[in-house]
Amino acid sequence: MYSIPAVNYVILSLLLSAALASMFIGLRKYWARIAQGKPFFGAKIDRASVLAKVNWQTFFERGLLLSRLKKRPWSGLAHYLLFCGALVEILGHSLYSLSFVGVDIYGGWFGRYFMELAREVAGIMIFLGVLFFAVRRLFPPERLTAGKTRSGFALLEILLLLIVSAGYMSEAFRLTNPLANSQFEFLGKAIAAALKGIAPAMLANGNLLFWWLHGLLGVAFLALIAHTPMSHMLLGPVNSALANRRSGIQLKPIDFDAEPEDGKDLVFGAARLSDLNQKLLLDLSTCLWCGRCHEVCPAAQTGKPLSPKLIMATCAEYLKEGKLDDASLIDVLGQEAIFNCTTCGACVEQCPVSNSPAEAVIEFRRHYVMDRSEMPDTMAAANANLEKRGHPFVGTAANPDDWRKGLDVPIFAPGETEYLLWLGCAVTYEERAQQIARAMVTLLEAAGVSYGILDSPHCTGDPAKMMGNEMQFVEIAQGNIEEFQEMKINKVITLCAHCFNSFDRYYPELGGNWETIPHAVLIDRLIKDGRLKVTQNKTEKITFHDPCYLARHNDIVDETRSVVSAVGQLVEMPRNRKDSFCCGAGGGNYWGGQGGTARISDVRAQEAFDTGADKIATSCPFCMLMLTSSASKHTEERKVYDVAELVVARLENKTSGETIPA
Ligand code: SF4
Ligand code: SF4
Repeated sequence: MYSIPAVNYVILSLLLSAALASMFIGLRKYWARIAQGKPFFGAKIDRASVLAKVNWQTFFERGLLLSRLKKRPWSGLAHYLLFCGALVEILGHSLYSLSFVGVDIYGGWFGRYFMELAREVAGIMIFLGVLFFAVRRLFPPERLTAGKTRSGFALLEILLLLIVSAGYMSEAFRLTNPLANSQFEFLGKAIAAALKGIAPAMLANGNLLFWWLHGLLGVAFLALIAHTPMSHMLLGPVNSALANRRSGIQLKPIDFDAEPEDGKDLVFGAARLSDLNQKLLLDLSTCLWCGRCHEVCPAAQTGKPLSPKLIMATCAEYLKEGKLDDASLIDVLGQEAIFNCTTCGACVEQCPVSNSPAEAVIEFRRHYVMDRSEMPDTMAAANANLEKRGHPFVGTAANPDDWRKGLDVPIFAPGETEYLLWLGCAVTYEERAQQIARAMVTLLEAAGVSYGILDSPHCTGDPAKMMGNEMQFVEIAQGNIEEFQEMKINKVITLCAHCFNSFDRYYPELGGNWETIPHAVLIDRLIKDGRLKVTQNKTEKITFHDPCYLARHNDIVDETRSVVSAVGQLVEMPRNRKDSFCCGAGGGNYWGGQGGTARISDVRAQEAFDTGADKIATSCPFCMLMLTSSASKHTEERKVYDVAELVVARLENKTSGETIPA
């Protein structure tokens, strides 16, 4: 009694096949657009080339376990409810089909605990999860409406609520049958009790009616998935499977010797969508316009024209409209916005579906610089200085040799010296930053490390690369690599987070292979090995500002804290570790115009002061310089220090060198 006649299942199965075909057609459409991008999988796309790109870790963690959603407890919980509930329901519905070939799926413990109890709970989980999103859409957080608002979600959420409600109603009508045998379908039973008193004929019809409603709406939802914003359910895990293996931004090298395609000009960077690679086009297809990137972007949060969400959403609209070769895109995005990016990687770290908005931004920046020779005047001056004088610090008063006055600093001797102490341009040409080198020399001497410096100042070329001048970066990097190879340099200590990132991430693809160690990591090692003896001042509160290029880009968060904790009492800012807030210097913005409603470094310095810390520590000269200038608005006292300086101040086994008051 009240059982659904088999013909209904046959018809619904046919409709389900049509819905799956619609999903397939939708996904094909995505691929047709994405395929027009620059090759991501290699010249030939086959099983091996695709598998070679798969990052199983990010696929499981971010794609399946939705790990990035943990950062937002409520929205994360709603996603988990929805996701886990849907998995149980999909499995339950699939298993139901076995009953047509005589398998008793409702018998025994599996029937009671999975097909009844787990599915009953799963339906409630889906309902609650969707309800959260539907209600939140009525009171959206700023990030959802900033720049552009994605339409289409609300309708699909209402559809999902109706599907689940119709399912429970159908179940309830079925359970009004006195012969129905169910132990754990508690919600259905409760509704069935409320339906008592309705005529028996209506009960049977109600069962069929709601069964069809549930089935038809469910099939409609499936058919719509790939054609609506719900496509992120399918594309999100795929995009996460293709995420960079390494944290942070991974800029693709440019083949400057490439021949232009037939009838086309050779284009550097991106002006149009078809200039982006296929992974970035997949990013645009997957983007939810959720604005999590906007919420963490230092440029967007200080009123500058850049919003990574707006960049992604604008590009996604071009993609949807098939405007892959429309070169108006780069001007619609706007030069000012493109150069506001500090390359901090916060957007990349935050995106729940593993998008890399910053990589797209830098591709557009590369085009401005290398194809159009356009960039903000201050950055252009830094670039020109780099070309003429080998460093980007225009008009600096610092003498590159001043920093070692009074110190006996050895020059690297090939075959004899173990480590090259690499200074980098900021430490060489900025007076305040020069003191980092003095402090580090003092520590290396005290620990008895074999080290030496180059006899002339150098830059890694990172400022050129991040300002979009890849050609200049390659030239500088190749010069350095040649010199390092001649000098048989195998180990390098960096004082700057940007130098570390360049050497470790980008030099190997140009042939430079040596071990690079950030100075904070080496200091931590030397303290732990007992080669540096320090006394801790437990009453001195020190807050630590994570340089983006150590923490977010390279996962270096523990060693720096370990050093700070060895000399004082670490107090954390609210945004710390990989969720740190940028100082504003990266991407050439040390030399760029600030604009907007606030300086990024002012916001960060305020956050540091709000902790009540006595000192602000960091481990990158650019961070130190930016925060020092902002901290000077609060106090004339020196507040910002490099970790090396803090250790020298508490060093017991000092043999020579710098004196820093404890
Ligand atoms: S890029 Fe990621 S974080 Fe930014 S709007 Fe798109 S999905 Fe959200
Ligand atoms: S890298 Fe940083 S500054 Fe650039 S778009 Fe992303 S969050 Fe904004």
